[in-house]
Amino acid sequence: MSRQDIFQDALQRVREIGADAGVAPEVIAELMHPKAMLTATLPVRMDDGSTRYFVGYRCRYNTVLGPTKGGVRYHPQVTQAEVQALALWMTIKCAVVGLPYGGAKGGVNVQPKELSPLELERLSRAYVRAMADFIGPNIDIPAPDVYTNARIMGWMMDEYEAIHRVRAPGVITGKPIALGGSLGREEATGRGAYLVTMELIRRQGLDPKQLRVAVQGLGNAGYHVARLLQLEGMRIVALSDSRGGIHAEQGFDVDSIWKEKQSSRRVRAVYCAQSVCELVEHQQISNQELLGLDVDILIPAALEGVITPDNVDQVRAPYIIEVANGPILSDAESVLLERGTVIVPDVLANAGGVTVSYFEWVQNRSGYAWTLDEVRERLAEVMTRAFGEVWQVAADEERSLRSAAYARAFRRIGDAVGAHGTREYFQEGRQQD
Ligand code: GLU
Repeated sequence: MSRQDIFQDALQRVREIGADAGVAPEVIAELMHPKAMLTATLPVRMDDGSTRYFVGYRCRYNTVLGPTKGGVRYHPQVTQAEVQALALWMTIKCAVVGLPYGGAKGGVNVQPKELSPLELERLSRAYVRAMADFIGPNIDIPAPDVYTNARIMGWMMDEYEAIHRVRAPGVITGKPIALGGSLGREEATGRGAYLVTMELIRRQGLDPKQLRVAVQGLGNAGYHVARLLQLEGMRIVALSDSRGGIHAEQGFDVDSIWKEKQSSRRVRAVYCAQSVCELVEHQQISNQELLGLDVDILIPAALEGVITPDNVDQVRAPYIIEVANGPILSDAESVLLERGTVIVPDVLANAGGVTVSYFEWVQNRSGYAWTLDEVRERLAEVMTRAFGEVWQVAADEERSLRSAAYARAFRRIGDAVGAHGTREYFQEGRQQD
């Protein structure tokens, strides 16, 4: 599927679920168009003295529920359509968990692994120079996403503050703790996914110790969810990064693999040349093979569009937790649902990240930092409540969890749209005059 199609696919899903859930056409119409999109060329001085030009995007999708919120990704496949799809999903995500935000997303088309740290800093500052009037603590608040991290957020905040000549920690979240970041933000996406997984297995009456899990993508989110599930006694039998994966039925120790990956920079290399390899008998597998493993829980935690009509028949896991944004295309999802696969959708499963981003923003605005326990407790409250609400809608209205989550989000957005007065309200008013 082309990157253009991913946005069309996302819109199609909104239309279908909206119609099926009886959502007012005004609300669906509101979600059919991004509010604003900024595309900018970012000139960056490279270490060898040459200048390279990168394309950067920021999409502010919808502001009905509040200022827009969403990450910035650095990836060679970033396109305008992808950023728009991701911004639409952020809009739905924030509404599902009840945050006072609309959705946004940003991206730069770049292979960040080819840049030196100084080039990366110049690129991040160039991005903010281009976006300086488009973002702001009460307008649009970026955060980390694929291949961006706390340090990059720190550079971006610094650039924004230099341009506007103010202190503005609330302009960005996922910052280093020393610069106003929140405790618990780094692990938040993974912890949120862990919390909903535990809710799911509790409701299904499953025993964590009997469950085998495969995680595609050992980035920040994939690592933390795998680590926390392992602590509950689940066996993490497969892991991968962009270059490939590993599989061992007895399960891996997630923390040792993560540590090795930090030094070797790739999951596969870890297993052959270095220590972890010696600890566990394992098999090297591709990312495609990982998706088809016979496991209880499959966790796609890398990029969108990895489960498609072409490979959906190979997917065997009865439970899928979408930690990546948009990993399952809608045509593939219908096949899975038909088969009875339970899918916890991205807009719920990975909402822990933006939830703690919200906590960070609240702490920045009040100038008072919370303890790690407070953050974790409130995150657990938000995720458990959201999961319970979505589960209930799914049961009451016989919907899939995605359809229930979307329906819930549309109703929240609909309430806000309706509070300004609906068509019926104004028509009635006219009749009374
Ligand atoms: N990039 C993350 C996401 O897709 C976090 C966004 C945020 O914290 O604003 O949900």
